Amino acid sequence: MASSNRCQSCGMPLKADPEEGGTNADGSVSTEYCSFCYENGNFHNPTMTIDEMKALIIEKLSEKGYPRFIARIFTIGLNRLNRWR
Ligand SMILES: [Zn+2]
Repeated sequence: MASSNRCQSCGMPLKADPEEGGTNADGSVSTEYCSFCYENGNFHNPTMTIDEMKALIIEKLSEKGYPRFIARIFTIGLNRLNRWR
């Protein structure tokens, strides 16, 4: 089992995911990726770059009322996640 409890694509804690993870090709719940990034064994946006992901995270967090400089902090560790290594 994966030891990480954060989505290895967007960095969101999997506990914060209402589905508690995306779905693998066999229908089991992914312990690596969240339901917003990953479904049925595929990324929702397979051609996305890390910069596009950072922009999306900043966009989503500022929609929730986070200031942009705070939102940017959430993107700092992104290049260490499995999807982007
Ligand atoms: Zn994710």
